[in-house]
Amino acid sequence: MLSSNTDYLLSIEDLTVSFDGFKAVDNVTMYVDTDELRVVIGPNGAGKTTLLDLICGKTAASSGSIKFNQKELRGLAEHKIVALGVGRKFQTPSIYENLTVYENLEVSYPAAHKVLPALFFKTTAEVDNEIRRIAVEIYLDEYLDMEASLLSHGQKQWLEIGMLLIQDPELLMLDEPVAGMSVKEREQTGDLLKRICKGRSVIVIEHDMDFVEKIASKVTVLHQGSVLAEGNMAEIQKNEKVIEVYLGH
Ligand code: ADP
Ligand code: MG
Repeated sequence: MLSSNTDYLLSIEDLTVSFDGFKAVDNVTMYVDTDELRVVIGPNGAGKTTLLDLICGKTAASSGSIKFNQKELRGLAEHKIVALGVGRKFQTPSIYENLTVYENLEVSYPAAHKVLPALFFKTTAEVDNEIRRIAVEIYLDEYLDMEASLLSHGQKQWLEIGMLLIQDPELLMLDEPVAGMSVKEREQTGDLLKRICKGRSVIVIEHDMDFVEKIASKVTVLHQGSVLAEGNMAEIQKNEKVIEVYLGH
């Protein structure tokens, strides 16, 4: 048996989920460090999205463990996992289309809902600073007053990343963030991801191999719910098993 590896921010061990006997995630062990940008790749149906669902508590695991900051996440409700510092972006952006960029970031600021009226004006400046700082990070500082519905698809993806960043999660998980983005937007997103993993862990699910090559430090390849290979991009690209099931397609 493996002993728990507590040096990592996220330690996933022997994680399995079975849907009526079908193991969508099958005995996955994976460790992610602070300051790390981990890319998870794999063919359609490999279990990538399900893995994120398990970590954020959307789906309950059948067995195994998910330790975050040495705390077991398995069995916790989704909002508790969010409160512990886990943020997750789904494939389709969920932003408030009829609010401005500024307002979208404002409603996502965690303390904004809890501020006492008497303290409100004092903290407004802090919130405002934070909104503007995040807006620069996500390339939307010139769009703060624009209604979100008018943004490009890529800008909407960035806005949603910003809405997560403003909550300052220690673990940020993004499911195919560059899908549908222009070449330029992909490049900018690569730079963004490399920046935002400082001081936290970021897990990115990705399909586009050129993009993975640009951003990846370490890659985990999933296939039929299991880890097929793990390593840097050069190692992954020459791995026979990976070539066979994934890159060769
Ligand atoms: P990926 O994101 O790698 O494309 P998914 O994690 O979405 O793959 O799906 C992995 C497999 O698990 C697929 O075969 C999918 O049909 C199945 N699956 C995912 N969620 C459920 C569920 N709630 N019930 C039954 N099967 C599911
Ligand atoms: Mg998926």
